Amino acid sequence: MLGLMQEWPLLCHKILDHAARQHGNREIVSRTVEGPIVRTTYADARVRALKVAQLLERDGYKLGDRIATLAWNTARHLEAWYGIMGIGAVYHTLNPRLFPEQLVWIMNHAEDKCLFVDLTFMPLVEKIAPLVPSLQKVIVFTDAAHMPQTALPNVVTYEEWLAQADGDFQWREVDEHTACGMCYTSGTTGDPKGVVYSHRSNVLHAMIACMPDAMGISSRDVIMPVVPMFHANAWGLAQSVPMVGAKLVMPGGKMDGESIYHLLDSEKVSFTAAVPTVWLMLLQYLEETGKKLPYLNKVVIGGSACPRAMTEKFERNYDVEVIHAWGMTEMSPLGTLATIKPEYAGLTGDALLNVKQTQGHPPFGVEMKVTDDENREHPWDGKTFGRLKVRGPAVAGAYYGGAGVEQFDEEGWFDTGDVAHIDPNGYMQITDRAKDVIKSGGEWISTIDLENLAVGHPDVAEAAVIGIAHPKWDERPLLVVVRKAGKEPTKTDLLGFMEGKVAKWWMPDDVAFVDAIPHTATGKIQKTTLRQQFKDYKLPTA
Ligand code: ADP
Repeated sequence: MLGLMQEWPLLCHKILDHAARQHGNREIVSRTVEGPIVRTTYADARVRALKVAQLLERDGYKLGDRIATLAWNTARHLEAWYGIMGIGAVYHTLNPRLFPEQLVWIMNHAEDKCLFVDLTFMPLVEKIAPLVPSLQKVIVFTDAAHMPQTALPNVVTYEEWLAQADGDFQWREVDEHTACGMCYTSGTTGDPKGVVYSHRSNVLHAMIACMPDAMGISSRDVIMPVVPMFHANAWGLAQSVPMVGAKLVMPGGKMDGESIYHLLDSEKVSFTAAVPTVWLMLLQYLEETGKKLPYLNKVVIGGSACPRAMTEKFERNYDVEVIHAWGMTEMSPLGTLATIKPEYAGLTGDALLNVKQTQGHPPFGVEMKVTDDENREHPWDGKTFGRLKVRGPAVAGAYYGGAGVEQFDEEGWFDTGDVAHIDPNGYMQITDRAKDVIKSGGEWISTIDLENLAVGHPDVAEAAVIGIAHPKWDERPLLVVVRKAGKEPTKTDLLGFMEGKVAKWWMPDDVAFVDAIPHTATGKIQKTTLRQQFKDYKLPTA
């Protein structure tokens, strides 16, 4: 017997319809690439997204076409996403921090037909566009007054283009399983891999993200997604924020401490989210200026492990709740969030920080397990670590073009490539990427734990740990440190600080001081480059 409820396909444009109808006057505030702060509303965004859809169809784009975007977080970028999805086409976000040749590879792999681009990236587009034969048109997110000269063919100005439409258009009703978005992982191993979101997965993911024990957002929040729309589907915020109808603050291209602080303060932002490096800059700015964060309630930190010292600073010095989160492009991207279950409700001080230090527990819609290499499941004892595997309605079931088949098994589990353990209350803690973990004498050492500990030293700006070949132990940890400006901690200081806080055999064999640690396009420590840099390093213990 079938249920007798209505067919109401989970389509992304319904989110914007809902926002425009129920929260039509709520503001979308953007720091534009041209400079000024511009205010629109959900009602405006819907009208403009309909125009984008109408014009894309007029210009010949259709169901399934990949339409790339190379842009910061602004209202225009958001409208374009919804307009693209609204004709059944696929938004494909490009990360401008990738090398031009990587972008060319990704665009050709996806066979992008059209590109929306911010002014900032015009010089980059002039380089890459001629190398992407499928690309027919470039639409520059600006108005006639700011439009630059360019030798590229088929380039139009967004505002002039948009003015050609009357917005009298119906969203195209497609099956909810239709592709609507695409994002490539940065490909720290091998070629980048394309993750293809569907309308259904994006809508479900947005609902999951809003739940109180996940991001816990509402129409009363003022939300600033600092995490770019080109990083892992903007952590779902481009859908979940309009879904709840919260005021949306889009920070554009300026991520420095002062610019971020300015918007947090002037727009009274209550909720924000980004990778740790962004918060490092903000906290530094706050420390230098003595400024406070009176409006901010919550910050979601993920993308790489949130250092304990960062959680401590936000919570103790600024009274801002930190939610440590873990996810992947392949998971739309939310996997787990370290919100507090009743089992841990009474904790305070260090015991509470220990829980907040984990990557947290999955909301409904994400199943998770940890296994050994033979796929035997480990107990949830908070210490036995192994390969972290996940499945759910917003988890990738395959990569675009059939890459990476070995990461998916016949029971639907996706092997994340992360190494983790799970505690009896379901809190997961990442100890490493499988390829970064240090194998010493047949046992594993977590580089993330050591890095977290090292950045807790007051004179350390950033720290990374890598394995260095060792004749007896196979590999031993080397701690690589960037000192804070004007500070001169020594190897003895740092090792002394760490001693007693980790198992003796985990202690780094040496400390190397560097001016900078390399990062990937999504703000992670680039361990491959670092290992290359230290490939001839001789440990004093070798
Ligand atoms: P990319 O692979 O393109 O850099 P992703 O954001 O998809 O971008 O990367 C996902 C990976 O980032 C995870 O598999 C994990 O290794 C790491 N990661 C994400 N969040 C955390 C976190 N809170 N703690 C530790 N690692 C994290």
